Amino acid sequence: MCIFCKIINKEIPNYTVYEDEYCLAFLDIHPCAKGHTVVIPKTHAEMLYEMSEMDYVRLADGLRHAMNRVREALQPDGMNVGINIGHVAGQAVGHVHWHIIPRWEGDDGGSMHSIVRNPGDESAEEVAKKFTIIL
Ligand code: 5GP
Ligand code: ZN
Repeated sequence: MCIFCKIINKEIPNYTVYEDEYCLAFLDIHPCAKGHTVVIPKTHAEMLYEMSEMDYVRLADGLRHAMNRVREALQPDGMNVGINIGHVAGQAVGHVHWHIIPRWEGDDGGSMHSIVRNPGDESAEEVAKKFTIIL
């Protein structure tokens, strides 16, 4: 059983930020910022794009509630919300999870744009061709 399933089963304790029938949000054990929160579905899935539509919608709704709990409790100036998908992107735990990272003015952090700078050497037109859908 994965570590997040153990948290859901209460085999590992957590500081809960928000919980409903379908998802659990709790404080990250190694916070990048005060109130860094992880939001997970109660049904194990490794990757977001493997989830059913309903499971995804329920998780997204839990994320919205958890963001509001963080806002109410800590009044951050902003937040970064995102998912590390795959080892190369930094995913360490194989159970879908959103990160909510509260941000404050002057905290010296960056934006999504600071994660990587690797635009490649293909033109936008060449890249766009890979998205062409034949109807
Ligand atoms: P990832 O790197 O997979 O996107 O993020 C996993 C996150 O889960 C990390 O930020 C890590 O600190 C957090 N984490 C891992 N194990 C535990 C745990 O047992 N309890 C809590 N609260 N957080 C954990
Ligand atoms: Zn799991």
